[in-house]
Amino acid sequence: KQDLTSILYLDGVSVSFDGFKALNNLSFVVEPGEMRAIIGPNGAGKTTMMDVITGKTKPDTGEVFFKGGIDLTKHDEAFIANLGIGRKFQKPTVFESQTVFHNLELSLKGEKGVMTTLFAALNDAEVARIMEILGVIRLTEKAGDLAGSLSHGQKQWLEIGMLLMQDPDLLLVDEPVAGMTDAETEQTADLLRDISKTHSVVVVEHDMEFVRALNSKVTVLHEGSVLAEGSLDTVQNNQRVIEVYLGR
Ligand code: ADP
Repeated sequence: KQDLTSILYLDGVSVSFDGFKALNNLSFVVEPGEMRAIIGPNGAGKTTMMDVITGKTKPDTGEVFFKGGIDLTKHDEAFIANLGIGRKFQKPTVFESQTVFHNLELSLKGEKGVMTTLFAALNDAEVARIMEILGVIRLTEKAGDLAGSLSHGQKQWLEIGMLLMQDPDLLLVDEPVAGMTDAETEQTADLLRDISKTHSVVVVEHDMEFVRALNSKVTVLHEGSVLAEGSLDTVQNNQRVIEVYLGR
């Protein structure tokens, strides 16, 4: 029953906390190279879903297949991160007292990045990789600035860049535009669309204008399962979605 062509396949995933079903037989598929927006009211299960994918929470039932055949529910968080799943939490965590460039350098090979910095110069390919990522995250001009001097939005982009340095197959992004200016929000949609040309991306977000700008398929979660799926217009016109968002 595995879907061998998908990058991510949640199959009948349920998670209970003290008898309360945070995820209730949740199933959905993300194809390679796809960007998917996940929306849903507070308590719908979005965070729990991300926790299950990254191995932070083990489901009571169901399976989570990555790259076709790997059942993530059998593995721990560190193993799953190394498989090629990068998760961007809502709050940016960058090294404020280091330059933007150095932040990316430190992410190059995880702990080996620290070794590289201390004991060896970067090789040409590594420098080229950092320059490429700087372009993707719109921070080329800021390469030599301290990360602590960046705006909130720029710090979010830097953290996305730090994840990209690890070259994940799947990027999970949790409410990236919370607290951003309108201009930053718009640029974040552009940036994620660029990234989705080479990576699969799952974005959890509340901001509907931003979700519209992503121009991706949308999955609406409600009470721990999929309420609707399709283009933003399709799901926004879905009667059950309207009832959930506007109150019946
Ligand atoms: P969302 O991210 O969509 O707002 P969550 O996944 O955070 O939803 O939560 C789904 C439901 O599960 C909520 O009702 C929440 O209170 C509950 N929940 C989440 N995590 C826990 C936990 N660790 N213990 C108890 N209840 C939890």
